[in-house]
Amino acid sequence: MDGVAALLRWYVEQGVDETIGEEPIDRFAEPPPAAAAPAVTPARAPTPLRAPAPPPPRAPVPLESPQLVEDARALAERCNTLAELEAAVRGFEGCTLKRTAENTVFADGTPGAPVMIVGEAPGADEDRLGKPFVGVSGQLMDRMMAAIGLSRDGGFYITNILFWRPPGNRTPTLAEQGMCLAFTRRHIELAKPKVLVLAGGTAVKAVLETAEGITRLRGKWTTYRLGDGTEVPTMPTFHPAYLLRTPASKRQSWQDLLAIDRKLKELS
Ligand code: URA
Repeated sequence: MDGVAALLRWYVEQGVDETIGEEPIDRFAEPPPAAAAPAVTPARAPTPLRAPAPPPPRAPVPLESPQLVEDARALAERCNTLAELEAAVRGFEGCTLKRTAENTVFADGTPGAPVMIVGEAPGADEDRLGKPFVGVSGQLMDRMMAAIGLSRDGGFYITNILFWRPPGNRTPTLAEQGMCLAFTRRHIELAKPKVLVLAGGTAVKAVLETAEGITRLRGKWTTYRLGDGTEVPTMPTFHPAYLLRTPASKRQSWQDLLAIDRKLKELS
């Protein structure tokens, strides 16, 4: 019983707090016609028993169900390389966002680079090109990282907590985030960065499993613990899309960048 309670608690923590899917299931729909009964051979005496009723049709598993979240977790855990993880994410059909997205957006930059940046979700440009952070906010991110001497070519690896664009760039639901989180955790474990940078409140809340807002958390080092116990220094920072809307906050982001630069020097 304890195990069941722990599992339910885990689902709620992952944002799976409803037992309904996004797609309605018509449970009053006619079951499919029964398979034709096998012909009775005339030589045998007729049996008074009727053929057993066909089993009731199995309801389709609703997308983003707890079972699918569990499937994603098991699938992610079996991946031992970034290439395996990428193939698993590309083949995963459990997230409804995949239906409306043009591309799966896995990652860009250099796997194994000292810095790994995790953002929120692909936007229209990323969806079209299949790469994260390639639109205007991605270009700002590149300029910011270049200011401390880091580029996608060797300096950083970049991804999002979601691999598919939410329609209209809406904020991903907790269920969608929960569905992809196991992949993101494994992604960080396999990339093993020296420093993890979480860009924007949604990524910070999902990865650090906190309700605390980005304004309070940004600029303060925290620790992300990998499955093997390794502790990765982690810097929550503003999302570049926020900086484009609120340029006055760039001053604080510059402080965050300098802190990242110092940490990398300390670690090397
Ligand atoms: N915003 C994000 O969080 N990620 C992208 O890839 C693009 C914009």
